[in-house]
Amino acid sequence: MKKEPVKVKEAPVEIRVGNFEEVVAGYSEQEALREASRCLQCKNPFCISGCPVGIDIKKFIYHITQKDYRSAYFTIRGKNNFPSICGRVCPAEYQCRKACVLTAKGEPFASDESINIHLLERFSGDYGKENNLDTPGQKEAKFSNLRVAVVGSGPAGLCCAGELARKGAKVDIFESLHKTGGVLRYGIPPFRLPWDILDFEINCLKKLGVNFITNFLVGKAMTIKELFAQGYSRIFLGLGAGVPSFLGVKGENLANIYSANEFLTRVNLMSAYKFPEFHTPVNIGKDVLIIGGGNTAMDAARVALRLQKIKGLALNTTVIYRRTDIEMPARRMEIEHARQEGVKFEFLAQPKEFIESDQGGVGKLICLRSKLGKPDSSGRRRPINIEGSEFELNCDLCVIAAGLKANQVLIKETPELKTDANSDVIVNPENMESSIKGVYAGGDIVGGEGTVIEAMGMAKKAACAILDNS
Ligand SMILES: Cc1cc2nc3c(=O)[nH]c(=O)nc-3n(C[C@H](O)[C@H](O)[C@H](O)COP(=O)(O)OP(=O)(O)OC[C@H]3O[C@@H](n4cnc5c(N)ncnc54)[C@H](O)[C@@H]3O)c2cc1C
Ligand code: SF4
Repeated sequence: MKKEPVKVKEAPVEIRVGNFEEVVAGYSEQEALREASRCLQCKNPFCISGCPVGIDIKKFIYHITQKDYRSAYFTIRGKNNFPSICGRVCPAEYQCRKACVLTAKGEPFASDESINIHLLERFSGDYGKENNLDTPGQKEAKFSNLRVAVVGSGPAGLCCAGELARKGAKVDIFESLHKTGGVLRYGIPPFRLPWDILDFEINCLKKLGVNFITNFLVGKAMTIKELFAQGYSRIFLGLGAGVPSFLGVKGENLANIYSANEFLTRVNLMSAYKFPEFHTPVNIGKDVLIIGGGNTAMDAARVALRLQKIKGLALNTTVIYRRTDIEMPARRMEIEHARQEGVKFEFLAQPKEFIESDQGGVGKLICLRSKLGKPDSSGRRRPINIEGSEFELNCDLCVIAAGLKANQVLIKETPELKTDANSDVIVNPENMESSIKGVYAGGDIVGGEGTVIEAMGMAKKAACAILDNS
């Protein structure tokens, strides 16, 4: 008899839009066992080729079916340091689940029938966390004099530090913000990734001896040369892509138009949703527009909706996207959750001009209708504006999520560090070493905006190269 996919429990919509609590509950043991039992244990497990770090998915799922959760956890940990994080945020529908044999070939994303690999990974990761199963260090004497400076505490920096510290290297992480975690802390809201999950992983690194130095902007407080002079023999750059792109349209500088990074940082990092208990406000309005179709846009929309609810306003947040639903790069689950919660979508619309309100600040957005042409370099059909198709939308708060570029401070201060046309750091893909000997890089600073697991994959490669050459 065909086994149906096991649905995961989620917080009821009417409750979750009023708070920042986690939406997806995760599988219970019985649910995980039922879902794992659907896996066909394929002779050729295509799912593994869909995972950017090559987790042995077939094997860890098999361990779950045997109730050997410990082995499931360690199978994942062999390739992925943060299963509880990736199980929550990985775009599995474009990766392992899409490659799973239960998704028909040629589908744009995973079918509902494919195994819920991410939820099983999360189950295993949470089991490890609840049972204190952190991978012990295998310290080697030859690395005891290796001192490494890691710049940036996002997933790339954390992963690189963990790999090195486990082998006995002394690692200091320098972070420009007052809190650690990079986008995992200031970008992804806690209703998707609760902070205690991130804090647990960071505490594991502290237990391994990794030292965190916050409020420290490398490039200004200290240069790369000065770090070497301090005794670090290797440096890893996990600077991320935190510089927002804007639309370049008239009126974009009006008050109450935020970049998604500023908006999310105010809410997540500075607790603006608890203003005035916390000092940073965010001027949430009654007509909120979010521009973009990626994860950042979905997060901004769902945060805006929660702020409207908390402030007692009617829920009125609309995502403006120049293509259609199917081309949206956001995770399908986030799009679905946004819809369920009441976020509206205006597809095939391209912002043209912001108009000031009588009170000052943004009042309206004029858009053009677009249609889809031939695929562009991204493989998605190119949006083409339709002349004379202008229409207006009320808008007293707008969040622009139109892409992110490499963080520049350190790069500008380090002319010897070679970058490409997008200002991303150029590395040797074999070992992630940059144009400066002993300086490695990984994550969004290398590939541009990517995913958490891709950032970790690059960081792990860099850590292996550092160990091999030390
Ligand atoms: C809102 C949002 C939602 C996302 N959702 C998902 C998702 O659901 N799934 C997914 O897989 N990916 C998602 N992503 C992408 C993912 O978060 C990134 O690919 C990933 O965080 C990149 O990791 P990183 O370590 O390279 O950079 P970051 O996470 O950006 O971390 C870089 C860190 O370096 C610090 N830094 C920068 N310059 C300096 C300096 N000079 N000195 C000291 N510190 C410095 C920064 O303050 C930051 O803390 C999302 C991104 C955003 C913005
Ligand atoms: S997850 Fe999918 S592809 Fe992988 S072994 Fe199971 S059924 Fe096969």
